Amino acid sequence: MTSHSTVLITGASTGIGAAYAERFARRGHSLVLVARDKARLESLAARLRAETGAAVEVLPADLTQPGELAAVEARLREDAGIETLINNAGAALLGNFVDQSTDDVARLVALNTTALVRLASAIAPRLAHAGKGAIVNISSVVGLAPEFGASVYGATKAFVLFLSQGLSLELAPKGVYVQAVLPAGTRTEIWERAGVDVDAMPDLMGVDELVDAALVGFDRREVVTIPPLHEAARWDALNAARQTLIADIRQAHVAERYRPAA
Ligand code: NAP
Repeated sequence: MTSHSTVLITGASTGIGAAYAERFARRGHSLVLVARDKARLESLAARLRAETGAAVEVLPADLTQPGELAAVEARLREDAGIETLINNAGAALLGNFVDQSTDDVARLVALNTTALVRLASAIAPRLAHAGKGAIVNISSVVGLAPEFGASVYGATKAFVLFLSQGLSLELAPKGVYVQAVLPAGTRTEIWERAGVDVDAMPDLMGVDELVDAALVGFDRREVVTIPPLHEAARWDALNAARQTLIADIRQAHVAERYRPAA
């Protein structure tokens, strides 16, 4: 991306998205900030304009509402100044699957996966054609761990990781950088919104520390950035094991253990 290009950030009214907005404004980029709370977006925009001189626009939208999502998609499709999408808006749904309402599950999927992939789909062809730009997708370490128990939330985040890896393979050769960022528990409003007392969780990462680390990965053009993972070799080992497994998949015939008994 070029130094004064525009960055569109979803979920920019607070938390991780607001921290990204602050960092990119200080790097000299113009911003388009997306979330539902217009007053909060405008207050952040006014502060960033005053402190950094950046051009900051707000684009309020509920990304679970198809009409409002379509307006953001159109902006990404048509505004050639936008070279970076930070696909960050998301929510959490904790507890047991059997206790979650079908509507809550569907709303989570709509926000964490449908909106995210629609926005990526809106910008990717234009970036690929231009041969530059970046798409950053915020996943989660929960997407690596069914054991954590947040099955639907984790599944949405596994989707984001897989999508990012696949898009990177397709788009990196065309000059477009795709990054998945996997935070662990980070001190934001997401916990309170999911009904968890954040003060009962002393070990959360600070949002500034998380976003600064994610940007170290961004500047290195890492495909997968996991700020709370201390041994990078563990991710490499997981990937290598996956490649070995893929190499042993033989399409034409079933494995010996699945042959029906004669
Ligand atoms: P947060 O503080 O709750 O912020 C979420 C952001 O998304 C807010 O700006 C919110 O703004 C926006 N948003 C929520 N629903 C929306 C909707 N329907 N349409 C448009 N915008 C919507 O959460 P966060 O922790 O910063 O989360 C950001 C991302 O990081 C999420 O994808 C989350 O899954 C991921 N993550 C967080 C953690 C963590 O522990 N915090 C860990 C791993 C991954 P409005 O309410 O104004 O719409």
